[in-house]
Amino acid sequence: MVERRCRYCERVFQPSKFQLSQSVCGGSDCQRQRRAESHRRKIASDPEYRQVCQDSSRKWRTRNPEYWRRRRESNPAVVERNRQRQRVRDQKRRLRDLANNNSAFDLKCSAAQVWLVGVGLEHLANNNPAPAQIWVLEALPPRRGPQTESCQQQRSGIDSVSAG
Ligand SMILES: [Zn+2]
Repeated sequence: MVERRCRYCERVFQPSKFQLSQSVCGGSDCQRQRRAESHRRKIASDPEYRQVCQDSSRKWRTRNPEYWRRRRESNPAVVERNRQRQRVRDQKRRLRDLANNNSAFDLKCSAAQVWLVGVGLEHLANNNPAPAQIWVLEALPPRRGPQTESCQQQRSGIDSVSAG
């Protein structure tokens, strides 16, 4: 009898005789992970499937307009986390666009452009002393933890940068 180790929970299981290549056990958590992974892979590789999923979730949102509002109201932390993630996705997309725009002619045409990428760089927007340059500035993600440590943390950060 064949035995396998589940690639999620790493427990030993016996594959179904109808699916000898089965690599995930029958546990509900593992099966949920398997379906989610397969869904993600399919969305990434199959444009038609992606379109069907988008249409379907659009229809669902139209039928349930209150769901997301109620969910946002009851989970402000989730809303903030999603906002941060969206910001990171937008930044990545902008950097990718910038990297793909590698024609020197196009770059010359944009006389002065300042790219502010990252959190907390807004104050640099007015500080634009160098015309005809492209700046790509990427900030580190904001520190987690108590706010009171910001002064000392920044000082030690600067010291360690100049020392190294
Ligand atoms: Zn498992």
